[in-house]
Amino acid sequence: MKIAMLSDLHDGAAEAYLPERLTKASLHDSLQDCRGCPLWEHATQAVPGEGRKSSRVMLVGEQPGDREDIDGRPFVGPAGRLLDEALEQAGIDRESAFVTNAVKHFKWEPRGKRRLHQKPNRSEVEACGPWLAGEIEYVRPDFLVLLGSTAAQAVLGSDVRVTRIRGEVLTDTPLAAHVMATVHPSSILRTRDGDRHDAMEAFVDDLRQVARLVSASRSR
Ligand code: SF4
Repeated sequence: MKIAMLSDLHDGAAEAYLPERLTKASLHDSLQDCRGCPLWEHATQAVPGEGRKSSRVMLVGEQPGDREDIDGRPFVGPAGRLLDEALEQAGIDRESAFVTNAVKHFKWEPRGKRRLHQKPNRSEVEACGPWLAGEIEYVRPDFLVLLGSTAAQAVLGSDVRVTRIRGEVLTDTPLAAHVMATVHPSSILRTRDGDRHDAMEAFVDDLRQVARLVSASRSR
């Protein structure tokens, strides 16, 4: 497993659109002009990360969903509500975390009147890497939590399987002092009813581990 350097993430085609000076406003405004891959064409808008510059925890998902595409904010749909619940159970205040995605435009296919999520491919994830790099440089989080395979593979390489490294805390990485991969909350929504409770518990346990490390590092 090779953890990306910031320079690796900056290699993507979106680099040409990144602002010179990274601020909340410049990251938001420049993102809307990005044409680093074709995904902008069918999306309502690009969805930047959200949270305070002082956030110690950055949560990275896959891409905006239908609701996020319309609202322009990350994790405000059903998976976001589940994430909020899991964060609360784990003792992490969402307001104190920076929440973003590996890919900033919604990729979808029409199914009747609905827009169905489509997984971004490797070249789209690589193209969008500079935005994630810019957000990491802007926030400088101590804890990078990768939600699901797209985020994990963007940062830890395309060979990574979340099922194998889930909950393992990698330390002193080039991107953050701690990096951990776990599942994406949407996978819990897709779990059958009988298994959903256990899936949620396991997800909350992963986040509790992050909460414990944050708390331990504060008391040092
Ligand atoms: S998905 Fe990323 S690289 Fe592609 S157009 Fe949107 S912001 Fe740019």
